[in-house]
Amino acid sequence: MRFIGSSHRHPGLRGAVVVALVVAGIAAPSGWAAPSKIAPALQIVATLPDLAALVQAVGGPHVHVTALAAPNQDPHYVDPRPSLMLPLSRAHLLVVNGLQLEQGWLPPLIRGSRNSRIQPGTTGHLDASFFVQRLQVSTAPLSRAMGDVHPGGNPHFVCDPRASARVAKAIGERLAQLDPAHAAAYLAQTTAFVAQLTAIAKAQRSRFAKLPVPRRRIVSYHRSLPYLLDWLGLQEVATVEPRPGIPPSPAHTATVLTTMRQLGVTVLVQEEFYPRRVSQTLAKLVKGAVVVLPGGARFDRGETYVARLQRTTAALYAALGG
Ligand SMILES: [Zn+2]
Repeated sequence: MRFIGSSHRHPGLRGAVVVALVVAGIAAPSGWAAPSKIAPALQIVATLPDLAALVQAVGGPHVHVTALAAPNQDPHYVDPRPSLMLPLSRAHLLVVNGLQLEQGWLPPLIRGSRNSRIQPGTTGHLDASFFVQRLQVSTAPLSRAMGDVHPGGNPHFVCDPRASARVAKAIGERLAQLDPAHAAAYLAQTTAFVAQLTAIAKAQRSRFAKLPVPRRRIVSYHRSLPYLLDWLGLQEVATVEPRPGIPPSPAHTATVLTTMRQLGVTVLVQEEFYPRRVSQTLAKLVKGAVVVLPGGARFDRGETYVARLQRTTAALYAALGG
């Protein structure tokens, strides 16, 4: 369950309700994972669980964070059920991934929330993609023709701690702007978190660099891994989907198999929310394996962004023969 709570103007009452729910054995809401008696000043909604985990890392006890998508949901295709409008209607800040990742489901929710604070272009609307170095930006005119769901560049950057460090910095500065009373705390926490992400990024890159080159080649399902692969020095030789958002055809699957055999690639990597049937068939044919990565931080269970990175790199390193 996700506890939405009463108005932020009555933090004491809401805190009491949360305590009552926890005592009653009902799961605590994600944003209340940290034991603290401080009433959160800001209500924040993030579209993805990873973005929610970044907000929590820099906001600490001063923010209450809700994620709209779950880690086992494809972020391109979230069901825009009306219940998601409730946290949006109360939010002081909405953090979105951008690059059209949420294009198919978020705009009607934002409009339906009737919350002027979080509309695009306002201080209460933060587009994370504005702060990262984008990969796979097409020079062709923007179009979703042919089913390509990445028309403006690859939107799957939150699995890369280097991109997330930039996003965390932007979030920390925005929190300081929206809640000046806690600005010093936000900025100090942001500095510490960015340093932690930078150290993890460097350490994991060195670790993967020690793998022999043939072991550093993989096939992915969707083109959702370029930032992760770029960070870890890995190479994607093919994708099971012929284009982002288009299911594999037998002809395309045959070309992927040929590529895997020619290059001796035996590992297919995909997030938990993609179909596995074709990948498993390919893995069987090359006597390889399908590695299933987290679709994001298990924010609803209190998992931190750093723990999510550890889970991702551990699964990948084990599969590549490290
Ligand atoms: Zn995608």
